[in-house]
Amino acid sequence: MTPILELRNIDYSYHTLDGETKALSNISFTLTKGEFVSVVGPSGCGKSTLLSLIDGLMQPESGEMLLKGQPLTENSDQIGYMLQHDHLFEWRSIWRNVLLGAEISRRLTPETKRHAKAMLEQYGLKQFARSKPSELSGGMRQRAALIRTLLMEPELLLLDEPFSALDYQTRLTVSDDIGQIIRRSGKTALLVTHDLSEAVSLADRVIILTRRPARIARIIPVTFDLADDTPLARRNAPEFKTYFNEIWKELNRDEQTEPGPKPADKS
Ligand code: ADP
Repeated sequence: MTPILELRNIDYSYHTLDGETKALSNISFTLTKGEFVSVVGPSGCGKSTLLSLIDGLMQPESGEMLLKGQPLTENSDQIGYMLQHDHLFEWRSIWRNVLLGAEISRRLTPETKRHAKAMLEQYGLKQFARSKPSELSGGMRQRAALIRTLLMEPELLLLDEPFSALDYQTRLTVSDDIGQIIRRSGKTALLVTHDLSEAVSLADRVIILTRRPARIARIIPVTFDLADDTPLARRNAPEFKTYFNEIWKELNRDEQTEPGPKPADKS
């Protein structure tokens, strides 16, 4: 089966007046349909850069990126992006926020509206359709943002620390909740997070990046022997700690053995 996403030997450097900063080095991996993959790595290693490249906001220096076997093009409407901030507009109701993407891309049809209505109902936001974003909790706002993204029917969802603006308690329930919605929707997802527990509780595989320039240190498949494999059940399963420690160890190994930045590397 053709992978949804394939990255082959991706390199990327930022060029500024201060010089060159190599952010990504020889990144290769594939995502198959319906897979949920987390990306973890030290702060500033290149995680967001990776997502920006996949989203077509920037072009790789070298290497290939394929979406369903075709070279990735700029602004592909097959890719949905969810960020740390939900970017809901206060001057629009939740209903009109949810429809915004479809409106902008001129895909607002009676069918899209029906779909939006069904999703608001399915995800418990029906009675908030006329509310302003500020009247919703952080978790409900993230649900609304996710519905807006899913309504565009993307093949691939890119999630860049989407829960990090939430407080710890909310974050636990919202990440579990959003993770399950994405699973049920059958979408393929790539989640960047610095929260190892979140990475393990949500993913089928965890990609561990080294310090900048990010290389792939390891890709760890994550499987749980659970009848009901939910993020919450995973957090309570005995394997959870094993995976957490394995990733933690790998990240720290990198800290101890990686050389410092090259002299040309000025950032
Ligand atoms: P992460 O998401 O892992 O925290 P980023 O992908 O945001 O890291 O950034 C990786 C590195 O690239 C950073 O350490 C930073 O030095 C550099 N970088 C990021 N954005 C820019 C930019 N616009 N110009 C120059 N350097 C940048």
